[in-house]
Amino acid sequence: MDVSLARHWVQNIASAMSRNQEHLTTLDSAIGDGDHGANMARGFFAVRAGLDSGTWSAATAEEILVQTGRTLVSVVGGASGPLFGSAFRALGAALDTEDGTEDDTENGTELGTGTDHEAETDTDATRFAAALAAGLEKIQQLGAAVPGDKTMIDAYAPAYRAFHDAAHSGADFRTAAHAAADAAEAGMRATVAMQAGKGRASYLGLRSVGHQDPGATSTAYVFRALADATE
Ligand code: ADP
Ligand code: MG
Ligand code: MG
Repeated sequence: MDVSLARHWVQNIASAMSRNQEHLTTLDSAIGDGDHGANMARGFFAVRAGLDSGTWSAATAEEILVQTGRTLVSVVGGASGPLFGSAFRALGAALDTEDGTEDDTENGTELGTGTDHEAETDTDATRFAAALAAGLEKIQQLGAAVPGDKTMIDAYAPAYRAFHDAAHSGADFRTAAHAAADAAEAGMRATVAMQAGKGRASYLGLRSVGHQDPGATSTAYVFRALADATE
């Protein structure tokens, strides 16, 4: 991921959160405390302000994602701030460590093209898939939610899997990002039928069934924003 894609991604997320603030509020009012729209809009407003102000050190994609995470952790209260924030920090940090082999990989990719053996080459997409895994792991570590608990995990986990599988079968970044966005949206829709096992919605027990999870919805915006940024 280059710096321009990272910038574009984060800007797209900020627009989506602002555009869909009311929808997220409505979803969180049904099964939570109604603040998810305000939380996401405030968080990404601060992210965009940081990015635009030039006060961030944002020379690389890694730095942009880590700063985005830090800003979300410090600006957003509730469950979603620390979870999204830590995920972006972990993602950025993982991209940083994944980056060292880039030059070798580019040669390897070219040589590998068109051959029929299955030698796994490290590409921009496979490196990003590994970084997405680090973000997902962080959310699960902090929030202890598992798939089916009706949380952001139910959008993130299928999006990660789709990105990973596309990347490892040779798809380029753009194709993998579109597969991930589609999977995140399917996962988001699947939360309607789930009973919440974590977060505020879990207090409702069976009454949480029949409502779409707000955090899974904002997670779907994050992955759609990435796909759109590749266009
Ligand atoms: P709060 O519930 O503190 O008001 P938000 O409304 O901003 O925070 O975010 C709610 C969303 O956070 C939920 O819709 C759910 O997707 C996500 N969430 C809550 N608890 C967890 C958890 N333990 N693990 C993963 N995601 C969670
Ligand atoms: Mg809430
Ligand atoms: Mg709250």
